[in-house]
Amino acid sequence: MQQTDRRTSFPSRLVGQHALVTGASQGIGRAVAVRLAQEGAAVAINYFGSPEGADETLALARAGSAARGHEGLDHVIVKADVGSEQEIAAMFETILARWKRLDCLVNNAGFQRESPSEALDVETYRRIIDVNLNGAVLCAQKALAHFVARGGGGSIINCSSVHEIIPKPGYLAYSISKGGMANLTRTLALEFAGRGIRVNAVGPGAIDTPINAAWTGDPQKREVVTSHIPMGRVGTPEEIAAVFAFLASDDASYITGQTINACGGLTLFPEFRENWAS
Ligand code: NAD
Repeated sequence: MQQTDRRTSFPSRLVGQHALVTGASQGIGRAVAVRLAQEGAAVAINYFGSPEGADETLALARAGSAARGHEGLDHVIVKADVGSEQEIAAMFETILARWKRLDCLVNNAGFQRESPSEALDVETYRRIIDVNLNGAVLCAQKALAHFVARGGGGSIINCSSVHEIIPKPGYLAYSISKGGMANLTRTLALEFAGRGIRVNAVGPGAIDTPINAAWTGDPQKREVVTSHIPMGRVGTPEEIAAVFAFLASDDASYITGQTINACGGLTLFPEFRENWAS
């Protein structure tokens, strides 16, 4: 079982919260679900495909809550393809029927495919936009409708990317989906700011997760990646999860409409590390 509980010296800021994390069967989504559970939130672990990963996340979330004294949290697994409007609707019905409330939505599910842009087939393009961007929009609508109806606010945290602002040649649909997340985050933040609802995003850099399996296990390819990162190393899912937990907590009570890049300096124009331009 993948160990995600490496840090224990953080507060329990999310006691009483109920949080849905999409795409939580591995990678960043798993680490976020576990961290929120460690901080006292009940988590709904969304997955798509086979349930084994979600089962592991559930076990880690339960262990993480219990280890920090949060007993009896109603963690739950919920299957849904976030590229499907019907499955999103059913997921929210299931969660709200069970919990009666939701406090935090984490739009994490996402994937990418490499292709020369002129050859990107339209089905792949549509699927990436449907999952990465439209799925986040539809989940946000469901969460917002609930937040508004019950009053008392809530928060949405989108998993964006440094590719929200850095173009990613060969990954056109992915770049568009993450660029769209910026205005999804900012527009909803402005529209709902007066109702106690905060909407933010996290922009990970290069993180050690299965989405990067093409290079994480290959020392030479990994060296190429890290050579471009100012901090000189790849990030861990737990380092990203910590930012989500902060944004979900009252420590971020005055923050809305922001993307916090957690990227080891990737957004700092690393090519300008040494002066060559003047
Ligand atoms: P990952 O491939 O390990 O995890 C992606 C998760 O999304 C998986 O659990 C997968 O099952 C789920 N998912 C995919 N399609 C889905 C669908 N239709 N419905 C529901 N779930 C679905 O990758 P990751 O690195 O953990 O990625 C998580 C998020 O972080 C993604 O949005 C990704 O774009 C973003 N991100 C990752 C990195 C990185 O370097 N790892 C960098 C920037 C942004």
